[in-house]
Amino acid sequence: MELPELTILAKQMQKEIAGRQISAVEVANPKCLNIPFEQFKNTLIEKTIKSVKNHGKWLFIAINQDYTLLFNPGMGADVIHFKEGTKLPEKHQIKLTLNDGSGFTIRVWWFCYLHLVPTNELSSHKLTARLAKTPLDQEFTIDYFRRLFNKRRGAIKNFILNQKNIAGIGNVYVQDILFNAKIHPKRKIPSLNDIEITNLYNSMKSVLKESIDHGGLAYERDFYGNKGGYDMKQFKIAYKPGKPCPLCGTEIEKIKTGATSSYICPQCQPLDD
Ligand SMILES: [Zn+2]
Repeated sequence: MELPELTILAKQMQKEIAGRQISAVEVANPKCLNIPFEQFKNTLIEKTIKSVKNHGKWLFIAINQDYTLLFNPGMGADVIHFKEGTKLPEKHQIKLTLNDGSGFTIRVWWFCYLHLVPTNELSSHKLTARLAKTPLDQEFTIDYFRRLFNKRRGAIKNFILNQKNIAGIGNVYVQDILFNAKIHPKRKIPSLNDIEITNLYNSMKSVLKESIDHGGLAYERDFYGNKGGYDMKQFKIAYKPGKPCPLCGTEIEKIKTGATSSYICPQCQPLDD
């Protein structure tokens, strides 16, 4: 799950659960909690969900005025809404029931964070206090983006993936983001010129917006259990090794870039320039 999926999910959750009271809490994977389960449950029961927003890959669920429930899906999770009497997804670790009998379940693919923090202590919650801006935030202007590169020397792809620099982009969307800007993932930041940085900025916004317009990634489910419409047809070079580049026809390559894999057109995204 990256920024588009979390943005869509937060909007749908806001519509369905905001204003409702929590009546039951189940957590089968208490390792994801920051406090003991009993305390977690007792704090939430009979409280009202005020709002649901996302910041990058984190959901911020405001509980009354005093608490914020923070959720990060890790590698991915199915967060699925249910109405009273409907069949629940068979596999889920977390379940929140609301006072009208509706609620939601969460099935976590690998690990997740589910932290309950007093809202006035959010600034000392280590994992979220210093989250960077996302490319879809209003304050994320081209000047802001340029300033992020001040005195930075590393490879551009690692920079984009580091959530301390830019929040919300993972190894899926970064592929076409770099391809659109014709930048090799291993290019060093000081080697990028102004036009490339502008192209990269525009590419980040357009790829993320296009995915939101399509309902997010095709292998992820939204709050209603529906799969997104952003699939292989939308990808330009991502996950298409051996296929022709849509711009020049050169074979797309899969390469290792540190801990991650990258897909590139060696013609459109040269390493040496
Ligand atoms: Zn090409």
